[in-house]
Amino acid sequence: MKKISILGSTGSIGRQTVEIVTGHPERFKVVSLAAGSSLEILEEQIRALNPRLVSVRLEKSAQKLKQRCSDIKGLEILHGPEGTEEVAKCDDADVVISAIVGADGLLPTLSAIKAGKTVGLANKESLVASGKVMMDAARKHKARLLPVDSEHSAIFQCLEGHRHEDIEKVILTASGGSLRSMNPAELERVTPDDALNHPNWSMGKKITIDSATLMNKGLEVIEAGWLFDLDPERIDVVIHPQSIIHSMVEFIDGTMLAQMSLPDMKGPISYALSYPGRMRSVVKPLNLASLGTLTFERPDLKRFPCLGLACDALREGGTMPAVLNAANEVAVEAFLNNDISFLGIHRLVRDVMDLHKPVPGDTIEQVIAALDWGKEKARQRIKKQN
Ligand code: MG
Repeated sequence: MKKISILGSTGSIGRQTVEIVTGHPERFKVVSLAAGSSLEILEEQIRALNPRLVSVRLEKSAQKLKQRCSDIKGLEILHGPEGTEEVAKCDDADVVISAIVGADGLLPTLSAIKAGKTVGLANKESLVASGKVMMDAARKHKARLLPVDSEHSAIFQCLEGHRHEDIEKVILTASGGSLRSMNPAELERVTPDDALNHPNWSMGKKITIDSATLMNKGLEVIEAGWLFDLDPERIDVVIHPQSIIHSMVEFIDGTMLAQMSLPDMKGPISYALSYPGRMRSVVKPLNLASLGTLTFERPDLKRFPCLGLACDALREGGTMPAVLNAANEVAVEAFLNNDISFLGIHRLVRDVMDLHKPVPGDTIEQVIAALDWGKEKARQRIKKQN
């Protein structure tokens, strides 16, 4: 029986993890959950999974939850960053699914790593911001990182049984998001609703906007660099609108392996939960003949500059990726609130990056300072514009 903790249990990845785990009570037991403020969903999860420890963001949410769950014996309810950390390093957990959105997931993920857990990493922003700190901690504390991002799970699966020195490069696929075929004038007028309408994947709001700007792919390039120990030149991106091939590895002999399935996050989540084994009937098998054609094209960095900005940040290194990420989080939120336009997202990120003088970023303090600085600068610029 594998024991599971879920950070961000009421978000999109968290809810799908709960669904998989509830379907396999003979294999998994959830021991702890951390969530924000979606108390109704959280209460349902508590009643279905019977964890012994739960944490929510705010003290008043914890009070409300205690009232709602007063009939449940042996349930400990905590709150705030300290509570989330307790869930992350929960003694009896074997696997921690890290699915808090954005840089808020950084410290809890690091706590799970320092506790030597196997971490199913869905929170790519934490690795983008603090890649060196996190990878060093994983080595030191013998924590295993299993990607819960469809592209990185695909690469991880393609690399099983292969030697690092045999990798020529990895190729991340991108659906291109909901706005792939729009011209610059149309992109200028895009509303949050347009951008939230993803053609293939059902995901949370932040990542759906990131997919539309291609920033998501940029963050994934940085994520792949850390997870697979690759220089930026050895990470390519190709647009593949059908989202059937989730990513590929090209080896030095010129051959390539790809991992394929229908687009469904249950695939990568299940693989991280059951690794090194697999679970039966997770996604509907592909019918290749009825799919017909798979197509590929180069990403257009002129129309979608965020991908290029992320690659620049990776090449510059140090705290630049943390600043890119911080500015992007603020920009996406501002776009969703109609404070800036869709194309304003990349302009804001670029402006904040231009102001930043990176430092090495090999301590968590430097990373947090860079994140705070990036958010503050981005907010100031939005204020000035409006
Ligand atoms: Mg992805």
